[in-house]
Amino acid sequence: MRVGIIGAGQLGQMLGFAARDLDIECRFLDPSPSPPAGVCGEIIQRPFDDAAALDELARTCDVITYEFENVPVAALQRILQDVPVYPPIDALRQAQDRLYEKQLFTALGIPLPGHHAIGAFEDCAVAADKLGLPMVVKTRRLGYDGKGQFVVRKPADIEKAWKTVGGQALIAEQWVTFDMEISAIGVRNAAGDIRTYPLTRNVHRDGILRTSQAPLDTPDLEQKASGYMRQLLEHLEYVGVLALELFVRGDELLANEFAPRVHNSGHWTIEGSATSQFENHLRAVTGLPLGSTRSLGHAGMVNLIGEIPNAARELAATHLHDYGKTPREGRKLGHITVVSETSAGRDELVDSVSATVN
Ligand code: AMP
Repeated sequence: MRVGIIGAGQLGQMLGFAARDLDIECRFLDPSPSPPAGVCGEIIQRPFDDAAALDELARTCDVITYEFENVPVAALQRILQDVPVYPPIDALRQAQDRLYEKQLFTALGIPLPGHHAIGAFEDCAVAADKLGLPMVVKTRRLGYDGKGQFVVRKPADIEKAWKTVGGQALIAEQWVTFDMEISAIGVRNAAGDIRTYPLTRNVHRDGILRTSQAPLDTPDLEQKASGYMRQLLEHLEYVGVLALELFVRGDELLANEFAPRVHNSGHWTIEGSATSQFENHLRAVTGLPLGSTRSLGHAGMVNLIGEIPNAARELAATHLHDYGKTPREGRKLGHITVVSETSAGRDELVDSVSATVN
C-alpha cells in the first residue's frame, strides 16, 4: 500500500513514522528543498498545484491525503477521478474559509461565537454594533497560528484593523472571554466507524499553541464535544482525522474552527494513547480497522518554538520530537511529550518542561 501525502512538514513526518509500523509506504509532494518528512519517504519537489506532479502522485499511490489545509481544492479535484482523496475535498473547502466553516457549524446546530462577514470597510462598523467590542477581525482564508487577525478593542481601532488585514474577505467575531480552550479529535473510516480521543486542553500565546494536556476529566464537556464531532464526521462523510477547536465558557462549548487533518493538539497521542492520531489517520484513509483511542495515562505536550535549547535534550522522562527544521522565530521546531500516572504529576511536568524550554 502506498499513500501519497500532500505536504511534507512535521505532520507529514509523523504520518511517515506511523506508516512504517503499518508497512505503508509514503510519497510526498512539497516544494521545499529539505522538508521534515524527507526522512520518511520520497519527496516530489514541486508546487502543490503542479499538474504533472499531482498526476504522478495519483498514478503511483493507492490513496492521497494531505497534511495542511491550504492545499488548492482544484488541484485535488483534478486527481479525484484517478485515486481516492481523503479527507473529502468538501471538508477541505469548508475548512479553508472561516465563513463557510461557521455556516457549517450553524447548520449542524453546533454553538459558536457571534460573527459578521466583512466585504467592505463600512461593514466593520456594522459588525462592531452587532457584536460589541472587543471583537476580533480575521481573514476568511489562509490564516494560521493567529496570523491575519486583529483585535478591535475600541472604535478607533477599526481603521487600524482595516489597514492591517483589510482589502480581502474578512470575518468579525465576538471576543470570547473563555475559561479555557480545548480541542476534540476524532477519526472516521469509510465504513462509518468513529473513534474520538479524550478532550485536550490547549494553551496558546500570540496565537500559537504552546501546551496541550489530556485527558481533561470533564464528562459533561466530553459528551457535548463528542456529539459535535460525530455530527461533523457523519455530515461530511468524513474519512481520516478531524480536529475541532472549541472555547469553553462555563458549561458552554463554542466552536472556533476545525482542521481536516492531524493536529498539533493531538501530538500527545503518540505516547499517550493506545493508537496515535497519525496511525489512526492512516488506518482510516487506507481502509484498515481503527485503533483504540484509550489513554495510556495523563499526557502533556510542550511545543518547541523558535529554538530547541540544549536543556530540552537533557530532560529525563520526557519524549523529545525534533522535526529537523532550521530554527526561525515563531517556527514550530519540535515538541516534548510527558506521560504521568496522575493529572497533577502531568501538570507539574508540563510546567517544569515549559519553564526549561521557554
Ligand atoms: P484561530 O486562528 O482562530 O485559532 O485563533 C488563534 C487563537 O486566538 C485562538 O486559539 C484563541 O486563543 C484566540 N482567539 C481567536 N478567536 C478568538 C475569539 N473570538 N475570542 C477570543 N479569543 C480568540
